[in-house]
Amino acid sequence: MAAKRDYYEVLGVNRDASDEEIKKAYRRLAMKHHPDRNPDNPKAEEHFKEAKEAYEILSDASKRQAYDQYGHAGVDPQAGMGGGAGMGGFADAFSDIFGDIFGGRGGVGGGGRSNVYRGADLRYNLEISLEEAARGTETRIRIPTMAECESCHGSGAKKGSSPSVCPTCGGHGQVRMQQGFFSIQQTCPKCHGTGRYIADPCPACHGAGRVKQHKTLSVKIPAGIDEGDRIRLSGEGEPGVNGGPPGDLYVQIHLKPHAVFQRDHDDLHCEMPVSFTTAALGGEIEIPTLDGVAKLRIPSETQTGKVFRLRGKGIKGVRSASQGDLLCHVVVETPVSLTARQKELLQEFEDLSQGNAARHNPRAQGWLDKVREFFGG
Ligand SMILES: [Zn+2]
Ligand SMILES: [Zn+2]
Repeated sequence: MAAKRDYYEVLGVNRDASDEEIKKAYRRLAMKHHPDRNPDNPKAEEHFKEAKEAYEILSDASKRQAYDQYGHAGVDPQAGMGGGAGMGGFADAFSDIFGDIFGGRGGVGGGGRSNVYRGADLRYNLEISLEEAARGTETRIRIPTMAECESCHGSGAKKGSSPSVCPTCGGHGQVRMQQGFFSIQQTCPKCHGTGRYIADPCPACHGAGRVKQHKTLSVKIPAGIDEGDRIRLSGEGEPGVNGGPPGDLYVQIHLKPHAVFQRDHDDLHCEMPVSFTTAALGGEIEIPTLDGVAKLRIPSETQTGKVFRLRGKGIKGVRSASQGDLLCHVVVETPVSLTARQKELLQEFEDLSQGNAARHNPRAQGWLDKVREFFGG
């Protein structure tokens, strides 16, 4: 076996590197060389093991000191690595580093010092109308929550008594078990890691210290909010455990489908049916906007698919500098339920158009010409 490389060299850091720098260097190397990312690459696996070993020594203050003083002879990596057997999953290798980077994991498996957790974040789906989203609104929501038990003020112990230090673990929350040569640390089975023991549980919460409740919150919805936006209510998530801070509540916005408008960011779209005579002769029609009815002049000879843009009749987004537009898409409607007289007049109209198709229906005529060309006519 080749001579062992210096741990600092392995991680590529200076001898006076801070814990943070060591952590960063290891994270980078572990990401690069992890076997899950480099299947069937023994070299990567070797690099990964080497970095993991270096990190386990240098991230531990006392082991690092021993290593600094005595080199490899000062530390026995086998002892610290559970016999060096197994690799652990990808998540397993990172849990100790990512835990405190992403927060939230609090004291999960954290060596039994304290079991203080930040409360979980909650999500609430809130459906609002397009009008409410455009103008902004204030609404009240009712959410289920775990609240501190009023009877015992969260201690979980019956009134007049208080929790005592767990006799099994002495308040550490963790116990050491001896199994042959190995000493295994695990969560205390008596207190489940809390370090406290309640001899006389509070009858209201059965010793949990918390009770299920509902709370009503007022939520301010800013004008211009859109589908998928989230409003964060800081500290309104689940309460923390053992004095930890509460989580946040995220109100996720969903827009109800609207009968007339479709929203596209700050613009609104609507379909605008126009009678066949108005489309041909031109005229004024009424169109709905979020501020009420507006009048729109339709020029003569307007075709299906024509889009009229009404500037500033859209929505002003939460982060937008200006108001969006309203885009009206024309659909010319073929008249239905015709009376005999109407049919007669249309027939007369058709007769008058005979021989002048290219003039009165240029699109239909052009299309017919193309079809004839296609068939070699
Ligand atoms: Zn209680
Ligand atoms: Zn205990």
